[in-house]
Formats: sequence, C-alpha cells, structure tokens
Amino acid sequence: MPDSNFILNLSVLYRNTMKYFDRALAPYDIGSGQLIFLILINENEGISMQEVTKLSEVDKGTTTKSIQRLIDQGYVKTVPDEKDRRIKRLYTAERAADVMRDIYEMRNTYRAKIRDGMDFEKLEELMAQVCVNTREKLDPDADYAGMRIGRFDKMSLTDYPETVSCTVYMSGCCMKCPYCSSRDLVFIPEDTSFVSPDEVLRYLEKRRKLLDAVCLSGGEPLMQKDTGRLLSEIRKMGYKVKIDTCGMFPDRMKELIDEGLVDYIAMDIKNCREKYALTAGMSEDRFSMDTIGQSVSLLMNSDIDYEFRTTVVRELHTEDDLLKIAEWIRGCRRYYLQPFKNTGNLIQNGFSSYNDQEMIRLKEAVRAVIPDVRLRDVVSG
Ligand code: SF4
Repeated sequence: MPDSNFILNLSVLYRNTMKYFDRALAPYDIGSGQLIFLILINENEGISMQEVTKLSEVDKGTTTKSIQRLIDQGYVKTVPDEKDRRIKRLYTAERAADVMRDIYEMRNTYRAKIRDGMDFEKLEELMAQVCVNTREKLDPDADYAGMRIGRFDKMSLTDYPETVSCTVYMSGCCMKCPYCSSRDLVFIPEDTSFVSPDEVLRYLEKRRKLLDAVCLSGGEPLMQKDTGRLLSEIRKMGYKVKIDTCGMFPDRMKELIDEGLVDYIAMDIKNCREKYALTAGMSEDRFSMDTIGQSVSLLMNSDIDYEFRTTVVRELHTEDDLLKIAEWIRGCRRYYLQPFKNTGNLIQNGFSSYNDQEMIRLKEAVRAVIPDVRLRDVVSG
C-alpha cells in the first residue's frame, strides 16, 4: 500500500508545477499564477471577468489583479459589452499571439515529462472526479457537514399516525432524561458510524411510491442546524413530515412551521413544572421552563397538527403530577400517555413502568381535565 500522503503530494505537485511554469514563462514576464487566466481568455474570447472567476474558482480579488497585469502588459484587452457597458469583455491582444503558441507547447512538454510511464488519462479522470468531490463535499454550505444521523429505520407502521413512514434518528440531545431509552443517541459513542443524509435522501427518492411520511426523531432533531435544509429536500419529494421534539427550540420549531416544512409535531411533556428539570436530567438552577412554555403555547395556538405526550415512569410520575400537567396543557388537541419501556439502552437504570391497568386508571384521572387523552402501547388502552 502506498503511504497516505495525498495532501503532501498535492502540495508538491502544485509547487513543482508552478516552479516549472515560472521558469518557462520568465522570458515573457508572465508568472505561473497568470497562466490559467491567459489560457481561459484565449479559449473563451469575449469572456467576462465574472465568468473567469467562476470557471477558474479563484477568488475575485486575485482574478482581477492577475488579469489587470495581463492587460497592462499588453497580453489582454477589454471591450465593453454591447448591451451592458458596465461589463467588460476580455480578449487576447496582439502580443499574446506568439506567446499562446509557446504556452501550449510548454504545457505539452510538461505533460510529457510528468506522465512518464503512467496511465495519465486515468489519473486525469480521477483528478477531475476528486475536483468534483471537493466542490460538492468540502463546501460547508454544499452538504450536511455537521449533520449527525445516528440511526435510520427504513419502515414503520407506528411512528406517523395512520401512515407508512420511515424514521430518521438524529444524534445528540440537549436533555439527559435518566429513563431515556436512546442512550446511544444522547451520549454518542466514539465509534458511532453516522448515517449519511445523502443515503437517506437517495433511499427516499427510490421509495416515493411505498412510503408516505418521514419522522425526524432523536435525540433532539431541532438541535441540528441543517434540519430545515434536509426537510426541504424531503418535502420536494412529496413526503409528509413529523418531528419528535423535547420543546427546547421554540424558535426553530416556529421557523419550520412557518416555512411549511412539517405536518405533525409530537412534543414531550416531561413532567409537571415543579419536577421538569429532575425528569429531564437537568440541573435545577440552570434549567429554565421558558423555552418549554413557549413551545407549548406555540403549538396550542398554531394550526399545525400536534400531540403532547408523556412517558410515564413509576419512580418519576404520580397521578397528581399528571393532573398538574393536564391543567397546564388543558385545551390541547391531543395528549398521549405512554408507559416507560426498558430497552436496555437507558441513560440510567432503576426505573420501572406502571402496568396496563394502572395506566388505564391514570388515563381516566387525566380524562377529567383533557377529554381526548389517549394511551399508547397499552393493551386495551
Ligand atoms: S428522552 Fe430525553 S434525553 Fe432521551 S432523546 Fe428524548 S429528550 Fe433527549
């Protein structure tokens, strides 16, 4: 196996190439940095400065400076655009005629020297592909560089109400609910292999006819800055979207609602206000109920379809706590109680669930305040 010295080799290739052309072009008083511009103008007579910047992928300042020098030296001339006099069209000037012929010869000599004994066409093909990859993958705005998808369930009949969906589980969470059943999404293990957003999008593209909706769960999906972008892509394919959230990001939730990127929001209500920090695994003095309160108000006052839901844990929730929650969210559209489940992937051990009969009794108590309270994952609920 060759050493993995790509960056070093790239640097050597660049510097030696520049040195070669600096020497070869010295008699014409042209620097290697001007070479690409002269070739681009020669091969695209009438090109604008802006188009040169785009094609060369060199920044505007450097392009302008280098081309101005070629103009000053008499290799390039400018002609105002006939329709828009503000645009200057670039042409090679008379002085360039002989130089261009020599430049192409220099380029051929350079290629002949460095291709010695190699499949150079293959190398060029690979380099072109690597360049495409650098454009598409290294630009922080061009891909989902910071997005962390921990798991991807390709089909679910239960995650989106009455719809066949798939579920994307985002890694990372702002809470540490001790009974959380997704420890690996909250405390991300060092050896985690994240699922690529592109893989998810490719899968969705192929399954348009089989799936109707996509659920974004976690972890906390609203923590990730590119969630909106991912949802726009998903939306373009015609999928419905559900988001599971802990309610700590009301502003982002509002943005997604306002932009029409979400159809259904399921928000956790961890516990009554007095026990919220404890149940969310947060320190009492640093936890503020403001953001949770804003998310509750946002949903209750919006037209979006939503549910509130509480995972009921024997050690954390009493009937009285659930009644306090019910008073808090009285008038909400839908409220689910779901029993805690030990998945074996908990943040902390030592928690248990109420049995089905107890859950039914708790639901009946809450029903006095919220008539449409429902049970999830309970037999005969
Ligand atoms: S249960 Fe709590 S810690 Fe776990 S993902 Fe949900 S909000 Fe985060």
